[in-house]
Order: sequence, then structure tokens, then C-alpha cells
Amino acid sequence: MKKYDTIFLDRDGTLNPDPGYINDLSQFDFYEFAFEGLQLLSDNGHRFCIITNQSGISRGIVDVDKLSEIHDYILNSFHKNKLDLLGIYYCPDHPDKASNNRKPGSGMFLEASQDHNIETSKCLMIGDALSDIQAGVNLGMDTMLLLSGKGLQTSEKLGTLRPTFIAEDLLDGAKLLLEQPSS
Ligand SMILES: [Mg+2]
Repeated sequence: MKKYDTIFLDRDGTLNPDPGYINDLSQFDFYEFAFEGLQLLSDNGHRFCIITNQSGISRGIVDVDKLSEIHDYILNSFHKNKLDLLGIYYCPDHPDKASNNRKPGSGMFLEASQDHNIETSKCLMIGDALSDIQAGVNLGMDTMLLLSGKGLQTSEKLGTLRPTFIAEDLLDGAKLLLEQPSS
């Protein structure tokens, strides 16, 4: 398996079903296969970092305290499963007034890289949206498009973007990575 410095993960549609603007912990559920996939990657020495756009904050749909509760739950769940999660970075920006922090911008990735000494060009970005793939490509990362979440729609509007990998979901993607020759 190819070894990455860090595997960046999108949140909604990647780790959990995406009903749109999750604003309460009761609406949040990991995909049942998520931890099996993460475990495979972790067993091969990978650490993780979650990078998520949460425009629901600036839209007034998602409350910051509720978001913190959800992210505490995610952090605890990774910890319980002995997975090395460096952090969860989120961007509250509205798409109409987005800073460089909102994916496909590089802001959150660069902040995480500074915080944790990450070499971004040696990383993998996994997500279900065009902005995930574009962000990874912009930073010279390998990219993986998942067809979970809105990935199927994304796969139809890739244009000239070519994700390094395309997989059904996070577990399928982890298995696909295991098959790759190390380099
Ligand atoms: Mg997503």
C-alpha cells in the first residue's frame, strides 16, 4: 500500500450520510462501514484529518455549539477506535462570500499542515464533492472520489478533473488503496 503523510477526509457524504445541514447530534450517524474502512487505513500506519465546509453556520441553519457537540462526538469516536485523528477543521463561510478556507480553497489544509507538520504533497484527499477533489489537486495531493453522498452526481460533472481513485464508499476505497503498490 502506498503510504501517505496524512489522509484528509471530508465529513458529510464521506464519513456519514448527508441529509443536508446537520444541526443536531441526533441527526448525525457514521456510515456503518466507516470505521472498518478507517481501521484498514490506520492498520497501515495512516493518520487522519477532517476538513469540512459548514456553510450552515453562516446561513444561520447550524448552531456553532451544536456543531461542536457533533465534532466532539466524532473526535471521541475516532479516539475510542484508536484512530489517529489530528483534528477537525471546518469553514463556516457562505459560498457567496467564501474565503480561501472554504474548499476548494487551501486555507484549512494549510492551517492543519502548520499545526501538525504535514507535507501536503504527500497526502491523500478523500471526499464526495467536486470541491474536495479540486482542493486536493490544487495542493498536489492524490485524490479519491467516493460515490457515496453526492459522489455519483459529482462523477458526472468532473470535466477535466481526474481523481486518482474512484471508489464506491470509504470501505471500498480503503480496500482499493491496500491493493496499490507502495512507493
Ligand atoms: Mg461531502
